[in-house]
Amino acid sequence: MLSIRNLYKHFGNLIAVNNLSLTVDPGETVVIMGPSGCGKSTTIRTINRLIEPDSGSVIFDGVDITNLGEDELRSMRKRIGYVFQHFNLINRLSAVENIMLGLVMSGQSKEEAYDKAMAAMTKVGLEHLQDQKPGELSGGQQQRVGIARALAFEPELMLWDEPTASLDPMLVREVLVVMEELAKYRAATMVVVTHEIAFALHVADRIVLMEKGTIVESGIPNQVFVNPASHVGRQYKELIE
Ligand code: ADP
Ligand code: MG
Repeated sequence: MLSIRNLYKHFGNLIAVNNLSLTVDPGETVVIMGPSGCGKSTTIRTINRLIEPDSGSVIFDGVDITNLGEDELRSMRKRIGYVFQHFNLINRLSAVENIMLGLVMSGQSKEEAYDKAMAAMTKVGLEHLQDQKPGELSGGQQQRVGIARALAFEPELMLWDEPTASLDPMLVREVLVVMEELAKYRAATMVVVTHEIAFALHVADRIVLMEKGTIVESGIPNQVFVNPASHVGRQYKELIE
């Protein structure tokens, strides 16, 4: 489904991603963890080329995304959903309009976009709040709108970059519940960057630990957290105990 090969990205003197390779199977939920600054966001953002890698390839469904021209990249991105840490909703638009915007911009009729937006709102349990503006919603509800916006495209792959990191602790759970449902029903292949250890433990098919721009360990949650092989893994194990 997704194969990242020998990915490099530097910023000035700093090597943010250092020869990283990762393969993700169809329907799999892979959770990427590691200390702040280890290159998680850079890695996930090179997948849909929000960041251009220096070298390496990102093969998605047999196509190397790093070689695509702008038009091809635009249609490829419709198949890859992205959920941001900061929800990036437009404040003057209602919840449902926020979701419709991208669909309409990609050429769908307003009617079609509305139906898809409402179906996505229903999936995240917010169909009753369609007319609310982001400012009238809680942070957790705003992030669920952010998730619905990605879901409305029916993406095959969903990328999540710390989707609960800017939420009050009380609001984290409702977002994790939505993510868990999507993973459980294999709604999409998911690559999730998160610090939520309990979520990783219960929902991930595989956990990937990063340090200094590269993967230091990867395996099923029980292996990585119970019998870690890396320094980072041992630190997480201590947190759980
Ligand atoms: P993580 O998501 O794991 O916290 P990032 O991928 O955001 O890590 O960052 C990896 C490293 O690259 C960090 O040292 C960060 O400061 C640096 N970095 C990320 N983006 C930029 C940028 N646009 N310019 C300069 N340095 C950056
Ligand atoms: Mg990050």
